[in-house]
Amino acid sequence: MSATTRLYYTDSTLREFAAAVVAAEPADGCVAVRLDRTAFYPTSGGQPNDTGSLGSGRVVDVVDREDGTVWHMVEAAPVPAVGETVHGQVDWPRRFDHMQQHSGQHVLSAAFAQLYAARTVGFHLGERASTIDLDRPLSPEQVVASESAANAVVWDDRVVTVRLVSAEEAARLELRKPSSRTGRVRLVEIDRCDLSACGGTHVERTGAIGIIAVSSAERFKGGTRVGFVCGERALRHVRAQREQVAGCVRLLSVTPEELVSEIKRVQTGQRDQRRVTRALEGRLVSLDAASLVAAGQPVGGATVVVSRLAGHDAGSLKAVAVEVVRRGGHVAVLTSDARPVAVVVARAHDVDLDAAALIRGLLGRWAGRGGGRPEVAQGGGFDADPDEVTALARRLLGQALE
Ligand SMILES: [Zn+2]
Repeated sequence: MSATTRLYYTDSTLREFAAAVVAAEPADGCVAVRLDRTAFYPTSGGQPNDTGSLGSGRVVDVVDREDGTVWHMVEAAPVPAVGETVHGQVDWPRRFDHMQQHSGQHVLSAAFAQLYAARTVGFHLGERASTIDLDRPLSPEQVVASESAANAVVWDDRVVTVRLVSAEEAARLELRKPSSRTGRVRLVEIDRCDLSACGGTHVERTGAIGIIAVSSAERFKGGTRVGFVCGERALRHVRAQREQVAGCVRLLSVTPEELVSEIKRVQTGQRDQRRVTRALEGRLVSLDAASLVAAGQPVGGATVVVSRLAGHDAGSLKAVAVEVVRRGGHVAVLTSDARPVAVVVARAHDVDLDAAALIRGLLGRWAGRGGGRPEVAQGGGFDADPDEVTALARRLLGQALE
């Protein structure tokens, strides 16, 4: 099977072409079409495939096979006859965007290599942002310096050239990204910037990249993962951030320059509020416990407090119960005052009672969940009248303590 002639290798600006169908077969609800030549870029080398049209059908995927053939996955098309001439049209805005990102990657990778000897070990051209994986950690300042150097190359509008050389000649050259290919090697050279083996599509002059903006940088596998956007993506990125900042500015009624100090002020205020709230909660727990203890009743040798408390959840019931039994000889059984009922049982260190067993006793009467230790246990989810729960708790306490 002879390899497909890749028209984009020699002319990455070609948007329309005519080609002969070499093979066509149904595949996954599409028609897989192989042509003698194509301007469609197949997914490879970190760059996604082109889309567009082939005859009356929509090209939704382009696949590069091991044998050097390129297959077009065409939607909503009759299976073309072998030998038929078809007209192909590449979705140009998508392709040009990929060319901007991919060419930008060469320039940015070259800057990282030249300034900090940071080698690019991975490249992914994503839907929104692209990433370069570097083999060493870089500081934020180093990333910014590389970004500046890369943009200087963009604005210098350097020529980008493509040529095919033999593998032997490629081996003699100092390539930033060497090739493992045998036979002819495709070299992409950016004047006084970068020389790499690459099969991707690139702009003809660096000025067409527009701008290279780093969007993120984080430690990754002992190196750095740098996110970046070029050309129109960079413009969209700025617009999106402008919207976000405008939203924050409206919410906080400050200028963009005041955002950071205002957020710090709000956070400090919240911390102070939380401190005040915790102090007040502590005082409320003490007051609740004190009034409950005043109404405690003697059962066996212990003072027993059984009560339903309005507006409490499991957490605050436990806080009050634990506060009550800090007093020697005391037992507390506290419930919430609405269905489903939450219950907390606590006893002082000197009372012979298994709080967890008492919860189990309640679970024997109503479905729910619960557990704990002999000193403190809690249950919840009881679909019961809170008064019935306290009544049964009283009975069980009487049996356990007398
Ligand atoms: Zn490339």
